[in-house]
Amino acid sequence: MNIGFIGIGIMGRPMAKNLLKAGYALTVYDKFAQFDDLVALGAKPGTSNKDVAAKSDLIITMLPNSPNVRDAVLGKDGVIDGAKPGTIVVDMSSIAPGAAQEICAALKEKGIVMIDAPVSGGEPKAIEGTLAIMVGGDEKAFATAKPILEKMGSSVVRVGDIGAGNVTKLANQIIVALNIAAVSEAFVLATKAGVKPEAVFNAIKGGLAGSTVMNAKIPMILDGNFKPGFRIELHIKDLQNALDTGHALNVPLPLTANIMETMQALKTDGMAVNDHSAIVRYYEKLAKVEVRK
Ligand code: NAD
Repeated sequence: MNIGFIGIGIMGRPMAKNLLKAGYALTVYDKFAQFDDLVALGAKPGTSNKDVAAKSDLIITMLPNSPNVRDAVLGKDGVIDGAKPGTIVVDMSSIAPGAAQEICAALKEKGIVMIDAPVSGGEPKAIEGTLAIMVGGDEKAFATAKPILEKMGSSVVRVGDIGAGNVTKLANQIIVALNIAAVSEAFVLATKAGVKPEAVFNAIKGGLAGSTVMNAKIPMILDGNFKPGFRIELHIKDLQNALDTGHALNVPLPLTANIMETMQALKTDGMAVNDHSAIVRYYEKLAKVEVRK
């Protein structure tokens, strides 16, 4: 099977590398970023989204947000212009569930099937090939895509119809954002009270407060390393999609609204391209203390 991979960014690059490592024939493309390293590893270079689609039986997209996926799939020289009927599009970006449904419907008119398959785990798990992948859409297309997705993730779960993958991802993103905020607030308190943050981490990480988020983010915070990873501007995008989806369904999201404003403050402070572990800097500024080694 020929696979196309569009969107060679922080996540897409290591994910595409894992598919190459697994022996798949890959055509790759990014509208703005270079992908010479993947070509050096054996990938064929695509010249446009349309060109990738014309050369592939299954096309993976890993792009920032709904407008980017619309552009790459339905826009000028897009996937829809190159793909043959029967082609499967697997959108692994985190986008609005409604946008996934609309793009899927437009593709369906040309006999192209789309499933949504956003991921959780960040760059380290993308490199390891151990992402958690949450899938929505056609069961037959899922069965075809599953062995390919398993080369990028250690958990691949179909959660429902098209859009359900992204609904699940929105839930994931609310939990991650608020978990980082809780960890940040708590560690700022402990540090200002004079207890070493490393000691606090070692004491509580195995208890009920411990979490994958704490294990991933506290070492970065202690080092003052806010290099992304997952950029605050992308998390703002996810929270906006969560708030829009919630409001459309009459679901108030008070905690999500609160952490959204924290992230907006960090953006105003010039931290939009920092890792979301920089949420701690908001709390540090309030308390005038730094959680460092
Ligand atoms: P990124 O910005 O590093 O990569 C996206 C790539 O898409 C860029 O290289 C960009 O040039 C390319 N692109 C944009 N529009 C395009 C178009 N029309 N045609 C072709 N290429 C186009 O972002 P990322 O961090 O790799 O994230 C990708 C997606 O995965 C996002 O939806 C993000 O929310 C999600 N995600 C990211 C992480 C993380 O830790 N970085 C974790 C889980 C999920």
